[in-house]
Order: sequence, then C-alpha cells, then structure tokens
Amino acid sequence: MILADISNNIANNSDTYWAFIGIGSNLGNCKDNIDKAVRMLGDIDDTFVTGMSSVYETTPLGTTGQANYFNAVVRVRTTLEPSELYKQMAAIEDALGRVRSEKWSARTIDLDLLLYGDRIIDSPRLTVPHKQMHLRNFVLRGLCELDGNTVHPLLGKTCKELADRLNGQDFILDQNIPQLVCIAGVIGAGKTTLGNKLAELFRCDLICEAYDTNPYLPKVYAGNTDLAIDSQLFFLNSRVEQLSLDKLSAGQLAVSDYVFAKDKLFAQRTLNAEQFDRYQQQHSEIKKDIAGPVVVVHLHGNPNLVLKRISKRNRPYEKGITLETIESLAADYDRLFENWNQCPLFRVSIDEFDCMDQAKVNSFAKEIKSYLWKQ
Ligand code: ATP
Ligand code: CA
Ligand code: CA
Repeated sequence: MILADISNNIANNSDTYWAFIGIGSNLGNCKDNIDKAVRMLGDIDDTFVTGMSSVYETTPLGTTGQANYFNAVVRVRTTLEPSELYKQMAAIEDALGRVRSEKWSARTIDLDLLLYGDRIIDSPRLTVPHKQMHLRNFVLRGLCELDGNTVHPLLGKTCKELADRLNGQDFILDQNIPQLVCIAGVIGAGKTTLGNKLAELFRCDLICEAYDTNPYLPKVYAGNTDLAIDSQLFFLNSRVEQLSLDKLSAGQLAVSDYVFAKDKLFAQRTLNAEQFDRYQQQHSEIKKDIAGPVVVVHLHGNPNLVLKRISKRNRPYEKGITLETIESLAADYDRLFENWNQCPLFRVSIDEFDCMDQAKVNSFAKEIKSYLWKQ
C-alpha cells in the first residue's frame, strides 16, 4: 500500500520502524521500473510506503559508457527486521529482472537500504547506514525532500547538513588517488593545529605550508612589494613539490594545512597586474600532476577571534595584520568555497569547534574518515 495515512495504523506499534530505501534504474523503461518497484515495496507484508522523493537523473558513478540513472528515495514503515526487509528488496530486484554482474554494472533496478531508524548494522550482507549514502547528492536530496532532519546515526549529522557538504555533486570512495585532507581558512584560523591533531589520529604526515622557509615572506610583510612575486612563486613551487603524485601514492592518507587553490587566491590579492601575468604563466606551466583534495575542511569564524589568536602567538611579521585584512581574506575564502565542487567540503566554525577538546577532535576525525577510502 502506498497511502500515507495507512502508516498511522501501525504508527503506535513499538515494533514498527521507519526506513529509507534508495531506488536506481538505468536499463529498460527506468521510470516504469521505479514505479513497479515502489508498488512492490508497498506489497511487502507489514510494510507501507509513506513517502517518495522526486526522481533524479544522474550520471553513472565510477564507470563510463553507461546510460544515465534515474534515482529516487522512498520512506517505508515496517515491522520487518532489516535483514528480512533486505531479503524482500533483493526478491523485488530479481522479479524486475536484475542481473547481477560486476559492481556498478547497468541494471533494471537497484534497491539499497539507506537507513533503518537509528540502527547501525555491519554484517557481511548488509551495512546500514548504506556505506556511501553521504557521498551521493541524489540520495541526500531525496532524503531531504522526505525529511531533511533525519539524522545519520554514525555521522551524527542531519541529511540536510550532509547534503550541504556536497554542493550538489556526487562523489565516490576512490582508492586510485591519494586520500588528501586539506584544511583551509584565513591566517590564524588554527589550520596547523587541527592538521597536526588529525594527522596524529590518522597516523599520517602533515604537509605544512612552507612559511618558515620562504625567504621573501618577512620582507614582503615588511612592505617590499617588489618581492611579492618571488614570494608567491616560492609558495607555488613548494606546493607543487609537496603535493606531487611522485610524493603521494594512490590510497595514501595525508593531511595538509592548506588547500592548493589558495595559491592563486593569494596571488590575486598580493600581486600587481604585471606580476600576476608572470604568475599565471608559471601556474599554467606546472608540469607535475598534483593530488587534489578528497576532503576540504574550511575553518571559518569571527575575525576578531582570529585577530586575537594572531596577536597572542606574536609572530613578528604578522604584527601588521589588521581586522580588515582578515575580513577581506575571509570573504575571498567564502567566494572560493561557495560553489566548491572538487570534493566534499566541511564548513567548521571556529567559534563552535574547539580544537583543544580532544573528544570533539576524535569524533570529527571519525567523521572525515567515512569520506576516505579505507585500506
Ligand atoms: P552501492 O552499494 O555502492 O550502491 P551497488 O548497489 O551497485 O553499489 P550491489 O551490487 O547492488 O551494489 O550490492 C552489492 C552488495 O552490497 C550486495 O551483495 C549486498 O549484500 C551488499 N549491501 C550491503 N549493505 C547494503 C545495503 N544497505 N543495501 C543494499 N545492499 C547492501
Ligand atoms: Ca546502489
Ligand atoms: Ca544495491
């Protein structure tokens, strides 16, 4: 049955649970396949379909040469245990002509158990919440249509919050690229401190911006604008070196206290037109392949708090930094990340997230890990 009010018949039964099921199809008459699957889900004993999202058309993930997918999410109320519900879902896949070949191959119908109440299940046949649901925009958007406040029990975040991290993109866990976590944000936001803590928990290296070794930087801070180009090119070259694929291998975990895209952002801020042309030239001639981020953490927050931190650490060349500089830098970062689509983006407010709170850092690290491919 697919009637919303029918669910009320069993709503007071304490053995009743709600679950969300993802539906996908890219073979045959996809929309028809989805309709049939929804009807069949409603026909399962003691199971009621109480809501359905829009149907989303998506390009196939992690594979090429396949037709586009049509995807939707439905909510059901059920008294069946997850394993039993999943068995029924597999039976529907079979009945609708699903042929099981290699992973992510084309199929008439695919039914994934996304969430089952707040249950966490990790058995050989069934993992709930679904392992990659938080990386898939089409899943989270569908869930948001049904109830954006639904909490992912492992990540402790609502579907709305999880969707915001993806900026409308779908991602996969990809073992063929370095698992690079980049921390970004204005000077003084606490990037290196958080980076160190994450690297320690991940047991990996922290790639640090070459601040101390840049011989031009103190002079530029002191007002020698002619050297701005030398300082910027020094940073560009050191970043390319640090992130080159010669250094970071596929699957390797690493944390950096900067995001490569900041390089151009700073060049735009600090160079005059002629210097910027020279910079652009060098930027376009980068020969090495460099690792892109798999996750970016954007530390943002109250510029006054940032300024306080900067004056507390008392680095001589940072003395001239003003509130206006921090504000305009923060605005640049906001623009950079507004439509960020390279990877999931965690927006973290430093006013709320205290890096010294180890329990918070531990759970944050755990959350990030679920966006990384695991060895
Ligand atoms: P993905 O799971 O990444 O969306 P897929 O749907 O193409 O990929 P399938 O070939 O349909 O993957 O299923 C692979 C295996 O996943 C199945 O054998 C099934 O037992 C297992 N599985 C684990 N957890 C779930 C879940 N929550 N929902 C559906 N299948 C699951
Ligand atoms: Ca699937
Ligand atoms: Ca599946």
